[in-house]
Amino acid sequence: MIRNNTLFLSFIFLLTACSEKSPKTLISHFEKKSETNKVLERALANSGEGGKCLIDIFNVDTLESEVKELEQKLESSPKSVGTWKHLDLSTLPSPQSQFLKKYGKDLGDLNNPDAFDYSSCRDVPCIYNKIYGKEKDVAGYVHYLWYLRFGHMLAADNKIPVQKSKNPGEYKDKAHTFDKYLFSHKELYALWRLSHMLKAPHTTLNYLKEVQKIPRGENFETASAAACGLAYSSGYILLTDDCLSLSSDQDMGFLYQAITHELSHHIDFESGRGSKKIYRSHKDDYLELAGFFMEEYVDKDGKTQRRWAHKKDIKLVSQYAGTAPEENFAESIAFFRVEGDITKKNLTNEHYDFVSKEFYFSQSFEREKIFKSWIEEYQPDILQNSFKAVIDCSKEKSSPKSVYFSPKDFTNPLPPQMINCLGERALEMTQEFKNKTMLYKPDGCRAHNHYSMEGKWTAFMKETLIKIFDKYVEDLKKDPAYLGRIKSFYDDLSDKTPAREAYVNCYGESDEPKCFSDLIRKRATEKALALNLPDDQTNELIDMYASYHSYETVKDELKKSYHDLVKSQIEGIRLEVKTLWKSCEGISHNDSESPSGSVFQIADGYMVSSFYNCLNSEAPSSIKNAVRGISVNQMKVQNAKEELILFNEVKPAFLSLLTDIYKMEREKEEKSSADLLSKEQGQLRSDILSSFHWVKNVVDNQQIMSDCKKRAYELIKLKPLFHLPKTLFSDYLEKNTCLNISTSKEFTSWLEGSKGQFSEKITSGLDEKMLIAGTNQAKACVKEFPVDSAVNKIRFRKEREACLMNKWSDLENSTLSEVLNDPLVIKFQVSSVELKSKLELNRRRLQLRLMKEYFN
Ligand SMILES: [Zn+2]
Repeated sequence: MIRNNTLFLSFIFLLTACSEKSPKTLISHFEKKSETNKVLERALANSGEGGKCLIDIFNVDTLESEVKELEQKLESSPKSVGTWKHLDLSTLPSPQSQFLKKYGKDLGDLNNPDAFDYSSCRDVPCIYNKIYGKEKDVAGYVHYLWYLRFGHMLAADNKIPVQKSKNPGEYKDKAHTFDKYLFSHKELYALWRLSHMLKAPHTTLNYLKEVQKIPRGENFETASAAACGLAYSSGYILLTDDCLSLSSDQDMGFLYQAITHELSHHIDFESGRGSKKIYRSHKDDYLELAGFFMEEYVDKDGKTQRRWAHKKDIKLVSQYAGTAPEENFAESIAFFRVEGDITKKNLTNEHYDFVSKEFYFSQSFEREKIFKSWIEEYQPDILQNSFKAVIDCSKEKSSPKSVYFSPKDFTNPLPPQMINCLGERALEMTQEFKNKTMLYKPDGCRAHNHYSMEGKWTAFMKETLIKIFDKYVEDLKKDPAYLGRIKSFYDDLSDKTPAREAYVNCYGESDEPKCFSDLIRKRATEKALALNLPDDQTNELIDMYASYHSYETVKDELKKSYHDLVKSQIEGIRLEVKTLWKSCEGISHNDSESPSGSVFQIADGYMVSSFYNCLNSEAPSSIKNAVRGISVNQMKVQNAKEELILFNEVKPAFLSLLTDIYKMEREKEEKSSADLLSKEQGQLRSDILSSFHWVKNVVDNQQIMSDCKKRAYELIKLKPLFHLPKTLFSDYLEKNTCLNISTSKEFTSWLEGSKGQFSEKITSGLDEKMLIAGTNQAKACVKEFPVDSAVNKIRFRKEREACLMNKWSDLENSTLSEVLNDPLVIKFQVSSVELKSKLELNRRRLQLRLMKEYFN
């Protein structure tokens, strides 16, 4: 027993020791301490009583500092090489070089690359500003910041990705001046604000390539003209003016909701990828949650049709959310972010919680909740300020009169000058944090300035501060040195590294939140115990530490960080993707394997199965290689859990790049097949007509066409990997190579030459048919007039023979009419007289044969 116990204890010790020394994470090297944003701090210092809003600092200074901060994060990523006009990409910051590499061809007037003079530009914002016809303007920064935050392009060009016209500048059969494609100043502000409002998964979409607005004043070309925006799973979002409308208060307006709605469609596409349903929102659990089901009904033409129907108790954020599950999905997520209170009222609790948990890191955006979450977020600062206030005010001998607190607010009796002093400090803090949230939070001014929220902030702050003050006063009374001691604990509180490490080490555990909370509490306990405080105070500190580093907050931050890390390594990943492609391209290909694997999928298109299977079986190890290739400050991934996180983060980026290559190669193949056809000049037709073993049937023209095409596919040297041959060649073959092939000189002369062969076939066919018909009749006669005994054989002979003979001419007639309908007979115009004489000739011989065989 004793030995066992010791063993058990040392085992625990070992385990703890191990987990303490879990390998360093890359992310701790990647995450730089956020640069103090000087512009914001300056603006905050000048806020004054009324406070400043986001719109007050919407200027080049602010945006430029944001660009710098974001670029700094991505500085370690490899640069793209090459040039863009006069710019050498290797001299630009990495994200700019990557941006120009990827989108450089899609900027400005696509009719005329020289329409704008970019020659004085040294960075991407400048290029955009030239397009806007401005110098050092917010426009250029908003477009580039959009790319930095979302990873795709906010377009400023005159070609809509899916437009009908081949010509840039033409939309809906009209020419449009370039300015119609650009955003207004107000819209740019709102887009910038929106880029602050949204986080993962809205900012981490892997397949979205660009957001583009159609010419001002226009509706969509497609039938869905009523929609204000369209989301394409092929990687686009298109917007009309209606989706960009704003109120006079520019923090309000349909724009916020509309664009969030379209982005949410992309979340739906991406999280539905790889499943048969295509949309995440069509999976059973969502339908159940949202209140939809598929109903079958019979339409007026008697056909069975299917449509979406509502469960009785369905709750919808808007009428539009009732039209289909995918609209419900996008609409609910968009409303949730922009209209928190309405959403809370109009969704079922289950649906509301689902949206919160899945898409907003368990946050919610009801006005009161927003205030409370800010107070929680600023807790370490509020605690430190309060802590300082209590110490300062306890020493204050006299203080100006304040009515903010009354003695009743505190459980401990306090001298009047201290109550006055704390009241003064509380007011200052209320104002300070109000100003801070107005300026730093995209929802700040909208929340603070809303009439129904008047006084709420003050009330929440007061409630919070009373609790904190009261507690400090109490502690101070018991132990005058206490506050000094816990200072170090507070200092440690804002260090996020241990929480991040805990998250990484718990990743993939069966209960991640619990594992995380255990680790965090363990650390907090160690820290708190070191202070030698009474139990209840120790526990309070532990609780505070744990609530500040909540699982959801840390997850939210890290999700974004890992996404940025992967984005910074995109060139390395691209290399790995290319290697995989090349290696699968090199194997010998066939389409007879059945497709297997679903890591890589082709949404709309075709790929020869051997290629597809190769990509799918090799992709996982390729992704692993890409992950192992990631390096930050020369450090590679060492922590197994982190490798797993990175694998899951690299995978969609990897597959998206793979899809890009596939699409590119598919286009190339289409081009080279068109090339090939344009040069063949009838050679294919003469090759086909040089032999006729491919003809299966000479009378059915449809069959001849299909056989001709089959033969052509054999003869064409290009064996497509990404198209079915018919997609590439069928149209051409029908209109050229195989057109009227059966009336061609070669075909008809071959047919003439083979006529004798065909006639023989027809005659022998006639004999065979007659034999079958006669046999059936003879058997029927035997049934009626049996030959089962010698007596019966003789007794019914006459009747039996009559039974066969009487029917004979009927049999001949029906056989004849059947044969006359045979395509070959028609084709060669074999006459019925000729066939009748054949029947006559064989008649007696056949009858005798049947009688001998069946009647004896
Ligand atoms: Zn929609």
